[in-house]
Amino acid sequence: GEFNDSMFELDRELGAGNGGSVERVVHKETGTIMARKLIHLDTNEEMFKKILLELNILKDCNHKRVVAFYGSYQYQRSQIRICMEYMDGGSLDKVITRFGKLHESIIGAVAAAVVEGMTYIKKEHDIIHRDIKPSNILCSTQGDIKLCDFGVSGQLVNSIVQSFVGTRSYMSPERIIADHQYGVSSDIWSLGLSLMELGYGTHPFPRLKPDEIEELMRLPEGTPAPQRAVHVDFIDILADRVENDAPKLSSEFFGPDCCEFIDACLRKEPDQRPTLDSLSNFNFVKHYGETITVQTIATYVKKSLNGE
Ligand code: ATP
Ligand code: MG
Repeated sequence: GEFNDSMFELDRELGAGNGGSVERVVHKETGTIMARKLIHLDTNEEMFKKILLELNILKDCNHKRVVAFYGSYQYQRSQIRICMEYMDGGSLDKVITRFGKLHESIIGAVAAAVVEGMTYIKKEHDIIHRDIKPSNILCSTQGDIKLCDFGVSGQLVNSIVQSFVGTRSYMSPERIIADHQYGVSSDIWSLGLSLMELGYGTHPFPRLKPDEIEELMRLPEGTPAPQRAVHVDFIDILADRVENDAPKLSSEFFGPDCCEFIDACLRKEPDQRPTLDSLSNFNFVKHYGETITVQTIATYVKKSLNGE
């Protein structure tokens, strides 16, 4: 049946982003714990119906690398509420805020998971994610790593009033120049930047300097890196990305396979980046995708939650 608001009991807020917030709720009838995303929209009834219809595609997106969708509904005249699988480890941005940089092997497992998820939504549903970033990669104490918040509803994407800050900080150079030419290669760039952030424990823009990198890498695991104010000179960051060479991962601190993969994703020209199909053949993805077990990830996620 269809969801409505009376079917849920609010537990607590999990976090807030640009377009709204996410709460932990209980579906009363089944006792299922869900994550409910509230999206504020200022639009007409017809558009609400259209968006809800488009979101139904999510019902067919069933994959171990994609957060499960339970249903969505309109709330009053101002919100769309989307109910999805609750991931108890939270998003990777929160993990690094609490825990600091991730070990290279875990980053490899994340890369493998994201590549699998991106491949599934593209191959099976012809969907491009459009918003790959650490806050849209979720993990659980079961050792799962899954993608969420991909752009299934064009109408929804258009209706959300996005603030400039945040939403654009993972944008590829070609998107900054021309917003329309969006392809899988733009997602691949965002993946590269996200993985780099996981490796340093902080957003790599404004461009990290060698001595800053050295300092970050000296911090033992479990030490949160200082947060960088990426929004301060935002225009400068965007200009930097368009004008300067692509960011590179420091080969002093990361292994050759890791650098090869991330640097390839971050090539400035979209057509120089690897294709989605070839991503899974990189040593970095293959090796850690196969050798890092769910048990290892589960242990790691639990450690990060306990602040160890
Ligand atoms: P933006 O709005 O720019 O996309 P965001 O991804 O951080 O940023 P939301 O998508 O609204 O914003 O999510 C807010 C927070 O809620 C996330 O950072 C994450 O920590 C948490 N969250 C989202 N979905 C889930 C989920 N399914 N399970 C557990 N926590 C979640
Ligand atoms: Mg999100």
